[in-house]
Amino acid sequence: MSADTYTAINCDGPDCDNATHLPIPSTATQVRAVRKADGWHTRPGGRDICPDCWTAGHR
Ligand SMILES: [Zn+2]
Repeated sequence: MSADTYTAINCDGPDCDNATHLPIPSTATQVRAVRKADGWHTRPGGRDICPDCWTAGHR
């Protein structure tokens, strides 16, 4: 049985369509845990902010 899911998380910054996912089947929680090291942030309310938006102050 195969139910591989490559979950992507999408940046919720203004006018931003950045997204990221892992090269392995993963849940959103796992993606966030790994991408946190790359500069992604999860904000209250479940919003995800990419490194570019974070740096630009869109938090
Ligand atoms: Zn962004």
